[in-house]
Amino acid sequence: MERRTRVRFAPSPTGYLHIGGLRTALYNYFFAKKSGGDFILRIEDTDQSRFVPEAEDYIRKSFEWCGIEFDESPWNGGLHAPYRQSERKPMYKQYAMQLLENGSAYYAFDTSEELDTMRANLEAQGNPAPQYNYITRQYMKNSLTLPHDEVQRLLASNTPYVIRIKMPRNEEIKCFDLIRGWVIVNTAQMDDKVLMKSDGMPTYHLANVVDDYTMLISHVIRAEEWLPSLPLHVFLYQCFGWVDTMPQFAHLPVVLRPDGNGKLSKRDGDTLGFPVFPLAYSTELSNSNGFKEMGFTRDAFVNMLAFLGWNPGTPQEIFSFDELIQAFSLERIGKSGARFDFEKAKWFNQQHLAKADAITLLPQLKAILASNNCVAEDNKILTVWNFVNDRCIFINDFWREGHYFFVERETIDEAIIVSKSNETTKLALTNIIQSCKQNNTMLAVDFEKIVKDEMTLRGLKPGDIFPLIRVLLSGEKQGPPMFEMMQLLGHTCSLNRLSALA
Ligand code: GLU
Repeated sequence: MERRTRVRFAPSPTGYLHIGGLRTALYNYFFAKKSGGDFILRIEDTDQSRFVPEAEDYIRKSFEWCGIEFDESPWNGGLHAPYRQSERKPMYKQYAMQLLENGSAYYAFDTSEELDTMRANLEAQGNPAPQYNYITRQYMKNSLTLPHDEVQRLLASNTPYVIRIKMPRNEEIKCFDLIRGWVIVNTAQMDDKVLMKSDGMPTYHLANVVDDYTMLISHVIRAEEWLPSLPLHVFLYQCFGWVDTMPQFAHLPVVLRPDGNGKLSKRDGDTLGFPVFPLAYSTELSNSNGFKEMGFTRDAFVNMLAFLGWNPGTPQEIFSFDELIQAFSLERIGKSGARFDFEKAKWFNQQHLAKADAITLLPQLKAILASNNCVAEDNKILTVWNFVNDRCIFINDFWREGHYFFVERETIDEAIIVSKSNETTKLALTNIIQSCKQNNTMLAVDFEKIVKDEMTLRGLKPGDIFPLIRVLLSGEKQGPPMFEMMQLLGHTCSLNRLSALA
């Protein structure tokens, strides 16, 4: 029977979710939805010392903005609840016990001083990276070296202990990664990682594997930083006897800074002048800008994120949310780091804005006008939007690009006025205004005819007079088609503005 696709996003609430984490979630989501599977949120909050209370709410709001829903989560529950590891604490113990009983794990009673001494001694002997492993464990205080009675006595007297995995001396662990292929590691290079801490909390490794197993996860799609943990996880599946239902793994390439120099970090947002968080937030320690607040549409944001490490294999770059689900595949994820390019991100936004159904933007466009003390008819707003949207990177640019249709021009490009006005152009303008005055319901074609007839009469080329007309009408030397602009401005307004020079 084909296995149901079940993937999870498993953030640790140790800070605000940044775009790298969100991209991981997005790939999981696309992967699940393409095959009609489930997308699960699991909060990995076993490290209580790094817990940030606001982090979970921020995750929730970020996903709401992106329009991504979880099939199972701490908020909407599910068959495998609870979905916060701290609430699953009691169940991990039984799994640790299973490993103790089958000889794959052991109790270690070493104090932190004893561990420090062990490390210091090994460093002194020239070992730069001392480990608790198949060699050193023989000299430490654990249930492999202590007599059984002593172990029982220590446990009965509540002596603090951790539970460690017992790595074999010399075995190959073969792991298959869907993006990177085979990764083969010898257990001699691996240490005896702690599975259960002295406070009774599982470590990431134990909780992660147990939860993926019990939540029937079919694919683990996560950041590359977890690739070094993969051999241990595969080994844990072997120790538990769960190899048959072990998920498939895919480790995603890192998101790099724009210069390609290192991983894009949470701090880069403030220093490099662009957001690295989906939503703005402020704490006592820092304020960070967000893509949403900066004016990105969620479709553009999601499209841009999807392309950070994945490509469809065709030249198409602009995708709707649903098209991304259909086009996505793990095979087309690259191995090398994906460089974040803010200029490209803006390009995505501009493209999506230009493509958006203008009706859906109307409320925002009206709000922009209102904030400039301006009201206008819907039709006019929509027409102006059609004229100027290719010059808007963000929707808020609507005012800058189109204000002169609603209020007086804010500025005027004087350089054009100076370079293009002369006796001939001034005379032509006066005549154009006169001809227009004879008819007060003029369409673009009528304006065009009058202007072109006058140009023919005076031997003027478009470059001699068009920039002048355009600047007089809008203040700027570039903009929408000129004669249509005149039609929309209307007869009176167009002639008034042209009269400024004539
Ligand atoms: N809690 C880990 C993180 O925050 C999850 C890693 C995984 O997906 O296995 O990145």
